[in-house]
Amino acid sequence: MKEEDIRPRGILDTFLDLANQDIPRFFTSQDREEIPCPACGGAGSPAFTKQGFGYEECAACRTLFVSPRPSAAEFQDYYQHSESAAYWASTFYRETSEARREKLWKPKARQVQEVLVGMGCAEAAVVDIGGGYGIFAEEYRLLTGREVTVIEPSRLLAGACREKHLHVVEEFLEKVRDSQLPEGKRAFVSFELFEHLHDPRVFCRQVFGLMKPGDTFLFTTLSGTGLDIRELWENSAAVSPPHHLNFFNPRSIRRFLEDVGFRVHSVTTPGKLDLDILRNNLARVRDPFWRLFLEEGRAADFAAMQNVLSQSLFSSHMMTVCVHP
Ligand SMILES: [Zn+2]
Repeated sequence: MKEEDIRPRGILDTFLDLANQDIPRFFTSQDREEIPCPACGGAGSPAFTKQGFGYEECAACRTLFVSPRPSAAEFQDYYQHSESAAYWASTFYRETSEARREKLWKPKARQVQEVLVGMGCAEAAVVDIGGGYGIFAEEYRLLTGREVTVIEPSRLLAGACREKHLHVVEEFLEKVRDSQLPEGKRAFVSFELFEHLHDPRVFCRQVFGLMKPGDTFLFTTLSGTGLDIRELWENSAAVSPPHHLNFFNPRSIRRFLEDVGFRVHSVTTPGKLDLDILRNNLARVRDPFWRLFLEEGRAADFAAMQNVLSQSLFSSHMMTVCVHP
């Protein structure tokens, strides 16, 4: 898989430009809140500022996070009313959805199935938090023959899921009641949502509250200790305010989830794109070794190196599986 397959450059650049124009319109209050590390509560030190958003790194656990942080109300307004958010939900999805279905969601459905089978809970009813257009849900249903419930607060997106005959709970997570969810064992999943959360701890407590002992929670997010993010740092397209606020890492996510009350089953970094992302940003790569590798490495070297990154937990795409004990 290539970065271009799932995030075509032109469309991504337009989206990022629109977002940059939206920032001064939606994040106007000067009264932002200094926050401690969202993973461990430790003190952060300034890493860089991007589009007016300060990013700090926790000295104790190396989580990278936005602080001071604008209010939750400003983010809510931005996601509901901004041009860039509308562009993402319409043009970006329309132009990329079929490629993403093949390259991203089909493999993701297989991955989730493998994990659940490996844990002995293949029968669990899958609940997709923030399921968007329901493409994962469709693919998982196709693969396993099992229904998926989608929790999706956006009316537009919830409607798109209903058209696919998916079971939708059109609510914000905090409003979801137990009776709206399937009975029996559940596996909650959430993809590329965690990095957006205004308060990851509140979110995880809400998920925990909907789970029963033995239920699973599987989610993917960005790891701030992954290669492309570390190397490109403030120039990384993944470090994109106002969208991405939290970059936990394999160590910090584990500690954080245990603190919330989960038993962590596994933290992996099955990412495939770190080197491709660096190659697409060669002019911004500062480290002489990586410059050399990107210019002179052969296809087989790229594959081997990407494999090492994934296996050693240094890829920037992270998957965490935890259980309600
Ligand atoms: Zn920390």
